[in-house]
Amino acid sequence: MIKEVEIAVEPSLSRDEESILKKAAKTSGLPSDEIKSIRIRKRSIDGRSKIPVYRFLVMVSTEDSPDEKETVFNPVTRKDSPECYIIGSGPAGLFAALRALELGFRPIVFDRGKDVRARRRDLRNIMQEGLVNPESNYCFGEGGAGTYSDGKLYTRATKRGDTSRILELMVLHGADPEILIDSHPHIGSNKLPKMVEALRETIIHNGGEVHFNSRFTDIIINDNKVESFIINGSNQIKSDSLLLATGHSARDVYYLLNRAGISIEAKEFAAGVRIEHPQPVIDRIQYHSEERSEFLPAASYSLSCNLDGRGVYSFCMCPGGIIVPATTEPDTLVLNGMSVSKRNSPFANSGLVVTIGPNEWKKFEGEGVFAGLRYQSELEENSFRAGGGGQSAPAQRAVDFLNSKISADLPLTSYIPGIKSAPLHEILPSEISTYLHRALKQFGSKMRGFLTADALLLATESRTSSPIRVPRDKTTFMSISTKGLFPSGEGAGYAGGIISAAIDGTKSAEAFAKWYSGK
Ligand SMILES: Cc1cc2nc3c(=O)[nH]c(=O)nc-3n(C[C@H](O)[C@H](O)[C@H](O)COP(=O)(O)OP(=O)(O)OC[C@H]3O[C@@H](n4cnc5c(N)ncnc54)[C@H](O)[C@@H]3O)c2cc1C
Repeated sequence: MIKEVEIAVEPSLSRDEESILKKAAKTSGLPSDEIKSIRIRKRSIDGRSKIPVYRFLVMVSTEDSPDEKETVFNPVTRKDSPECYIIGSGPAGLFAALRALELGFRPIVFDRGKDVRARRRDLRNIMQEGLVNPESNYCFGEGGAGTYSDGKLYTRATKRGDTSRILELMVLHGADPEILIDSHPHIGSNKLPKMVEALRETIIHNGGEVHFNSRFTDIIINDNKVESFIINGSNQIKSDSLLLATGHSARDVYYLLNRAGISIEAKEFAAGVRIEHPQPVIDRIQYHSEERSEFLPAASYSLSCNLDGRGVYSFCMCPGGIIVPATTEPDTLVLNGMSVSKRNSPFANSGLVVTIGPNEWKKFEGEGVFAGLRYQSELEENSFRAGGGGQSAPAQRAVDFLNSKISADLPLTSYIPGIKSAPLHEILPSEISTYLHRALKQFGSKMRGFLTADALLLATESRTSSPIRVPRDKTTFMSISTKGLFPSGEGAGYAGGIISAAIDGTKSAEAFAKWYSGK
């Protein structure tokens, strides 16, 4: 007999596996001498009551090793296997490559950026000198935007595919096995690069190739079919297929696709600010106590509201994290957040964003399908100017923002390039500042203490999701305009976040294999 039981455990005992398993066995009611295996399936923190508890879902069984899993990765590629060309080594591209290996193809991956180690120098340059390398930054390079990201691995997109398989592949490549049981798994930007390197090694070891400093610069289409594509302006590669996983920051790729006659369309996205608090403020609110116990992680939150049919919500919340400059172009400013695995920075930050659609980007109507993208670029340019250059960010205390008042001084921040006091209530387009204003008031009453004097707003958070979609057929995953082109991941408009991009890449590789076998 197999029983799943839920037990609550006080935080100080949450690492004491023996007592957790004992408690689960007792709760199951199964005779103790018949129990053959006990396994923790899920772990989450429940902070609803006055004293937070960990909740464990435990499987207790009187049968031998229930639920044995097959091997998670089974490559079958040979030296003479056909190629699967992939542009982009972000989560979508890398997991497409892994799946291609299992389906008997040799993945050949091209990325415009550098390998994870070489990339670090460019991150230091942007962080400390404000210098942006348009080919190597927080978004471009090995592992894509996922490498130096926060590494939160939960997704709302559970319907899109097999999340646990992606997590198991990550564990196989060095991620902490705890991600398999945590309800909000997290890896951290200090550990992600190693995992990304291990993924590359697997691809190469099994006969694939990964090329850095290799920018996809053109695609040749004939009779609505892919004929070849070009790397770095001159290296023409003949292929009737291409899996495109270039992420949502590769604006040049959207223009390139449009020039080549490939169908693309504008889509809604969200933009706003990053909000930062001292972490103890969030801990106090979420854990209902003056001080966080050493057995509890930095607390997080998730806030959302619907105002006049428009979503306003917190995005990519980073407890114990820092704010980073995630732009890809000089003279623009884009903020994002990340944290290391211990989440031990004294700050908590999150995006606070407003849905942006055709009504907002009307003034760029003349730019056709690129109107939303232009709106997004303008936000980033304005923010750069208001920050005073480099990667310094314009900032305002949240309470001053609500009172339309420039902040006389600013609190401490995690944002290393620096901040400059600025009237965000005027700099942000009115549709963003008005809705942020209304939402902040709601969030302040939902989470008492959220609107403290130390809550700081920094602009701008603009790359929440892609402002463009590369439409594809629902079943074949192929571009609706171009045979042989498989748009994938966040840049294609079909994913948002590491896990959903990895799932989408996996599915795109499967769709490619199906198409190939029917040729
Ligand atoms: C700082 C930061 C923190 C984040 N934190 C989280 C988080 O905690 N959890 C989460 O789920 N998501 C997070 N994200 C978002 C997440 O990283 C992305 O959703 C995800 O990486 C998208 O995957 P992708 O493979 O579709 O695209 P990307 O990861 O964007 O990868 C695209 C790749 O394509 C390459 N490329 C682009 N153009 C070309 C070209 N012309 N030629 C060749 N190569 C090209 C790029 O160099 C890049 O490597 C974060 C992002 C950032 C920037």
